[in-house]
Amino acid sequence: MSIVIEGANIIDGTGREPFQATVTIDNDRITSVGEGGGSNEDERIDASGLTLMPGLIDAHCHMTFDEPSSNDELFFHRREGLAAIIAAQNVKKLLNAGVTAFVDPDCIFDVGVDLRDAIEANVIPGPRMLCGGNALLTSVGGTAGRLIPDEGLRGYAKIVSSPEEIRTEVRRQIKIGVDWIKVHVTGLLPRQSIRGEIQAWSLDELKLVCDTAHELGIPVMGHCRNAESIRDAVLAGMDMLLHATFMDEPTLELVCEKKVPLVPTFTFQANLADYGEAVGADPGLQNVFRKEIEESAVQIRQAYEAGVPVLCGTESGFSITPYGDWHYRELEVFVRDMGFTPLEAITAATKACGEHAGFRGDTGSIEPGKLADLILVEGDPSKDVTLLGNPDNIKRVMVGGKSMPLDPLPPREPINGWRTSQYSSGILTKQRAKDI
Ligand SMILES: [Zn+2]
Repeated sequence: MSIVIEGANIIDGTGREPFQATVTIDNDRITSVGEGGGSNEDERIDASGLTLMPGLIDAHCHMTFDEPSSNDELFFHRREGLAAIIAAQNVKKLLNAGVTAFVDPDCIFDVGVDLRDAIEANVIPGPRMLCGGNALLTSVGGTAGRLIPDEGLRGYAKIVSSPEEIRTEVRRQIKIGVDWIKVHVTGLLPRQSIRGEIQAWSLDELKLVCDTAHELGIPVMGHCRNAESIRDAVLAGMDMLLHATFMDEPTLELVCEKKVPLVPTFTFQANLADYGEAVGADPGLQNVFRKEIEESAVQIRQAYEAGVPVLCGTESGFSITPYGDWHYRELEVFVRDMGFTPLEAITAATKACGEHAGFRGDTGSIEPGKLADLILVEGDPSKDVTLLGNPDNIKRVMVGGKSMPLDPLPPREPINGWRTSQYSSGILTKQRAKDI
């Protein structure tokens, strides 16, 4: 199967200025970028007036959560079979948004692995996917407070305590086929003395996770939201850091020296900070998030300038970040808050993810030999990355040279027991009743 795409303005994902060329695809890979291909192709696509670029890669997307509005909903109101069926529908929203690959760091049950296998086997259409299993937490917990038990599994969280438990769980996940091990290195405590999150693992424990996974050839990523946790995650040998906010000078130096890829994932905070009023967010929390972005953007920019790979990831999968709507948003924040040029932001959402998020450099750019994971876009995203946020601009999405169906999904009816609902937003005292 041979396809020729001609007439397009090309953004190749490497950071190079846009240029005109003809792209030839044979089977699932790009075979030439330049002069017109041969004349015996099976399909010739006239892309005049459109931009051809690598599809977006979202390095942080929770495909199995289905947009919960609370940890309570996510932990106690999900069923395994239904979560899998719904995730199989939701991945189509990523295709519609021009996402051709993504990393799902952690999932509920073991649905992530099943979803990836279903996509790879052509059972359902979807972007190229890499996945973790359950996130590893100590009994200190993560960001869900007392909802995390002292042992066992809850929601996405697997609680591990002894070295034996750590080894067994890492090996179990690798046995079922995860691409990544994910560790929640920091969490929130009700009476902690420091700002941000607190480190919930010792360096030795983190080393044990990394050594056990690396012995079996699997990389490890860490959710880190303070300086010490970033330092220890790097020292333990982690391969990618999510958030990586609140660094101090020595930590920043260490990150710059070791060049561990960072996925700041500002989208969740930026959405709450910028649009939180629309969903009744607490103004105090909006300010906290705005500050976290502003402060951390400066440090992550410094890391980027020192050669640390910085990747786009959006934390899609929550009520604040529904599937399909916000995969372009991290690029916008990189441009606005980190001073990236639009082309640099596009590289952070394409080639950089292809090289550093576990895809082994096989996807993410328009170069001979790469997988043909491509999108055709109306307009020029090298001038304005927010064009990528309008699904009407996404004209064609190819994964491995195959054009994907781009049909809008039908609206959903409520599912019994799936969403949590409140009796009320306040307490109905007699006084309140009188005040009506
Ligand atoms: Zn996440």
